[in-house]
This record gives sequence, C-alpha cells and structure tokens, in this order.
Amino acid sequence: MSFVRFESVSLAYAEGAPLAIENVDLDVQEGEFIAVVGPSGCGKSTLMKLVSGLRAPTEGYVYAGGRQVGGPLKIVGMAFQASNLLPWRTTLENVMLPLEIVEPHRQDLRARRAEYEAEARALIARVGLKGFEDKYPWELSGGMQQRASICRALIHKPRLLMLDEPFGALDAFTREELWCMLRDLWQEQPFTVILVTHDLREAVFLADTVYVMSKRPGRILTRRQIDLPRP
Ligand code: ADP
Ligand code: ADP
Repeated sequence: MSFVRFESVSLAYAEGAPLAIENVDLDVQEGEFIAVVGPSGCGKSTLMKLVSGLRAPTEGYVYAGGRQVGGPLKIVGMAFQASNLLPWRTTLENVMLPLEIVEPHRQDLRARRAEYEAEARALIARVGLKGFEDKYPWELSGGMQQRASICRALIHKPRLLMLDEPFGALDAFTREELWCMLRDLWQEQPFTVILVTHDLREAVFLADTVYVMSKRPGRILTRRQIDLPRP
C-alpha cells in the first residue's frame, strides 16, 4: 500500500517566486526505504517540509499515512545534519523529549514515566550509547550525537522516519558505522524511511529505491530500484 504519495506536486515559496520543485510524483510503499539524491538547492528539504506538513503544495497533492497532509504530522520522526539535541539535557532526557511532547495528559506521563524511561534506556543501548545516558551533548562525539538524535526520532515508534543529511557532518568511518546501525534498526522493525542526501553512495547503500533530482526547478530525473545483496 502506498504510504507517502506526491501527485504532480509543485511549490513556489512565494507568489510569483520561481518553483522550488516542479511536477514531482513520488510513491513510497509502507515499510519502504527511499532516498532522494540531488545537488544542493534541488528541493530535497522542500520535499521533507511537504511530507511533514510544514509547507503546503502550490499545485498537486501530498498524502501520507492514507490521508492528505494538512498540517504537522504526528506519525513522523525526524533527524537532521545538526543533531539538534538540547544542550541542557542529557542523552536520556533528550531521547525522552518526544514522549513528553506527544503525551497528551501530564498525569499519564508521570504515571508511565518508569515505563517510558525503560523503553528509552533500551533504545539508547540498542544504538550503542549504553553508559552515556547521563552525558550532555557536548560530552559526546559527533557520531554519538547522531546516534542519540536518531534514537530520539524513533522513540515514539513513528511509522515514518525522515532523515535530512543525517550523516553529512561525520567522517567516512563513522558514517559507515551509522549506515549499518540504521539498516539494522530498519530491518528489525520496519518503518518507512525517507532519506535526503547528496551522497549517492549513501543512497545506494541504504535505500531500496533511489530518486535522483535535478536543479532549477527541482524535478525527479530518475527512479531506480536498488537490487544489491544486503550484508
Ligand atoms: P535542498 O534541500 O536540495 O538543498 P531546498 O529544498 O532547500 O533544496 O531548496 C530548493 C529551492 O527552494 C532553492 O532554490 C532554495 O533557495 C529555495 N528555498 C528553500 N527554502 C526557501 C524559503 N524558505 N524561502 C524561499 N526560497 C526557499
Ligand atoms: P531548513 O532547510 O533548515 O528548514 P530553510 O532551507 O527554509 O531551512 O532555510 C533557513 C532559512 O533561510 C529560513 O528562514 C528560510 O526562510 C531562509 N531561506 C532559505 N532559502 C531561501 C531563499 N532562497 N530565499 C529566501 N529565504 C531563504
């Protein structure tokens, strides 16, 4: 079943402004891992904003989770190039943040705190940060910060994970490690992933389907199915 769908979507950031993306069609199946690759400025972040409901299309339709996107989506977890961890919160506190925000009733949060904390600790261990639960972001390496950031994106078990250049600032070795970690997480508990990157190698390593975009205005050039044997 189609989980994220773009039908002839165009977007101009202001009336009369040139189109940032033009006539984009996307069809992402539930549980699929797709990557969108293209040069800087081709509209990758714009696609993310459309899926997450931060922007509305100028033309066309965007659907996610079976309905038309019309405002911020709750089913999404997100991670970016900068880890965006709150500097005054520890790893555990950062990872638990989405649970605090999503939890509609404060009393429920208090009642379920021990349960949530156990879930957070388990996921922190799963991404290789055991022993760093009480450290602050500045005490972690760049790779560890991204592990924490991905952990935070997954803590409320989103059906859709959106990643915008999450490994862009890391060295090649750390990047490779995190690719494997992400692949493993996704294979254990399939959620749908949309990864935006300008690294074609990363896209091919991770995704089932790779969309390549061209610039001015941003269009989908090619859509390729990747059939590599997975490690
Ligand atoms: P990418 O993520 O591939 O680098 P973006 O989606 O950020 O590309 O940008 C696509 C185009 O839209 C670019 O020409 C960019 O300058 C423009 N753009 C992005 N954000 C805004 C904005 N908030 N206001 C106006 N133009 C924007
Ligand atoms: P992000 O990708 O982090 O969501 P944006 O790409 O929208 O952020 O850009 C960050 C800031 O720069 C925003 O305030 C946005 O409005 C502005 N911006 C980006 N590209 C342009 C552009 N081409 N023209 C005008 N403002 C832009």
